[in-house]
Amino acid sequence: MSGKVHYQQCFYKPFAVLIYFGTSKPVSLDDYFGDFTTEVNRLQANGVTIMEQRFNVRIHWFICDTPARAFIKGTKGHTGFYACERCEIRGFKEDRVPQFSRIHCPERTDESFRRRSQQRHHNPKSPFLQVGNDLS
Ligand SMILES: [Zn+2]
Repeated sequence: MSGKVHYQQCFYKPFAVLIYFGTSKPVSLDDYFGDFTTEVNRLQANGVTIMEQRFNVRIHWFICDTPARAFIKGTKGHTGFYACERCEIRGFKEDRVPQFSRIHCPERTDESFRRRSQQRHHNPKSPFLQVGNDLS
């Protein structure tokens, strides 16, 4: 996972935040993200001081491909019946291809995500639920 500083002019280069090596995805998201969520919460609460100037820290967004995004959020993958990240539609498969045919379904929100309002959309709890501020 990479991070990037956004402060006034945008001339900062991305830097490594988390690095994982293995032949498969990490077994435990809590082990993988445990130190990260602890440090992010500390930084968001206390900021960071550089050359005697205090800066606030806030996460604006995470950028991942679709499978990685579902993995870190602890949600169903993009082929699941409850995979839509924007609303609570239940999909169906036609010729083994997921279909989402309705357009007026309850939208997902940061709050509904944190409440896990649609249980079937979620896998085991994501460690990102422990991050202090909203990520929307
Ligand atoms: Zn949807």
